[in-house]
Amino acid sequence: MPSDSTLRIVWIYPDLLSTYGDQGNALVLEQRARRRGIDAEVVHVRSADPVPETGDIYLIGGGEDRPQILAAERLRRDGGLHRAIARGAAMLAVCAGYQIMGSTFGGEEGQPVDGIGVLDISSTRGPARAVGELVAEVDSALNLPTLTGFENHMGVTQLGPGVKPLSQVVTGVGNGNGFEGCYAGHVVGTYLHGPALARNPALADLLLTWSAGDLPPLDDRWYEALRTERLSAVLPR
Ligand code: GLN
Repeated sequence: MPSDSTLRIVWIYPDLLSTYGDQGNALVLEQRARRRGIDAEVVHVRSADPVPETGDIYLIGGGEDRPQILAAERLRRDGGLHRAIARGAAMLAVCAGYQIMGSTFGGEEGQPVDGIGVLDISSTRGPARAVGELVAEVDSALNLPTLTGFENHMGVTQLGPGVKPLSQVVTGVGNGNGFEGCYAGHVVGTYLHGPALARNPALADLLLTWSAGDLPPLDDRWYEALRTERLSAVLPR
């Protein structure tokens, strides 16, 4: 965290990438920090503006094919996000934003488009749109409960040796090969909307812990009610 001890959450390109309420991820982080007495602010970075390098947690969301291509071009040209990640900032990248973190992804006609190359992944268009509830069991090294969310994407994502799968799919498609999402260092990529951090507050706390150190538990009964309802809607009883 910076010396003024305000946790800076950077929400990248709300004007291009913000489908399915992904911006809620910023609210969840801000609120979960404040409930622990940590000062937090959300910085909205529109696509015409430079990405600040001094943020603590960076967020990027899902979007349609054309805004996704534009966002990738602008992030590549800007370079601020690369520098922030290189100095150890945490990041959650969702769906289109997740694909952009890799080397390439499929454009609106399936043409390969350059990503920004901060995760060792590449994405192409899959055989069919993946749409619906997604449930996955997280890599045991991260010690997180079952992931729940909503997915809607054409892309499938191949993981290289530089990343680990975030989770194993129970219901849904995810990356398209039995796994969902990936992580490397303090960067997490996922296909989960929901928004992901409202459905999975433990993932929010992982990002906060990477930035602010150990945190006391919170009363999460409302989050738990949402999780129980969503999980029971898709899992056999
Ligand atoms: N355009 C990408 C795809 O279809 C991402 C979609 C999204 O972000 N919801 O794979």
